[in-house]
Amino acid sequence: MKDLFVYLVRGQCGTSVLRPTGSFPVTGAGGLDANLNTLIQNAVPLPTPGIANLATTQVHFLGNSLSPSTPTVQTNEWIDYFSTFTLGGGTTETWTYCPTPNAGASCTGPTVVTASKTTPAAPSNDRVVTKNRVYGSADQKGLRITECATTSGTSPQGTGRYGVGAANGSDEAVVYTDRIRRTVNSTGTSRADIYYSTFQNFAWTPLNKQNSSTVTFQQARDFITSKIIQYTIAMEVGHTLMLIDQALLTSVPTFPHYAAGSGDNMDEGVQIVTSGTPSGIKFYLPSSFQSGSQGAFQLTAPAPTTIP
Ligand SMILES: [Zn+2]
Repeated sequence: MKDLFVYLVRGQCGTSVLRPTGSFPVTGAGGLDANLNTLIQNAVPLPTPGIANLATTQVHFLGNSLSPSTPTVQTNEWIDYFSTFTLGGGTTETWTYCPTPNAGASCTGPTVVTASKTTPAAPSNDRVVTKNRVYGSADQKGLRITECATTSGTSPQGTGRYGVGAANGSDEAVVYTDRIRRTVNSTGTSRADIYYSTFQNFAWTPLNKQNSSTVTFQQARDFITSKIIQYTIAMEVGHTLMLIDQALLTSVPTFPHYAAGSGDNMDEGVQIVTSGTPSGIKFYLPSSFQSGSQGAFQLTAPAPTTIP
């Protein structure tokens, strides 16, 4: 039995897009964990996202962090040094950690700060979920995914550190929620019909028009935004878990992603089509991990590798 522990930090770099007040709710079937839940399961074909969610007992979001009403950036359900994440100049990642764990994000005293993409950023026992373990000698870590809601720039929409693998490796997975929202809102004309397709049972589902007599154009776009946020969260956690094996470096041109359109959460991007029929904007958005990504999941870190 494999279990994965994840903590979602909301509202860094700006006001959280994931909160219900003042912004859109994450709509549609499933929550922010919907795509990630497809990581650990054996069923093929995959269940309909958000309905079966077979893996919800094995992907655990710590500290009630899926709830919009959870305001804290730390949780006492693991060893937590996190203080803040900022973008210096809009581009440079800066991670700040408290000198002692679980002291609150507004901790005082010296902090460990890094803006490097390669330097180990956090104290070595940050994110350990087995502090009180009875059996086993090795620490087991969970993963942190951080929301950066910066209102500047449109890319990247997510980042995750490939190169260590497994939950015991680096964290630094980030989802740039407001960049996703603004990108969706600025695509095409404001009264364009919005179509959605996702990948199920080895094929893209028929295009499904989202706006209607009861769903506004903006509500339809918000639905799309929520689906891309779910996909991005799953992808960046997937990078941290090294779901595409390094052996594929020479055979998969889009490494460490599958090509866009493959239908996996590890696709290099979503597909947005504004031409052709039906007229409108067609969003093809992966919503699950396929068998290759599921098979690559591991909890124990392999020997460190270096991918530029
Ligand atoms: Zn990626």
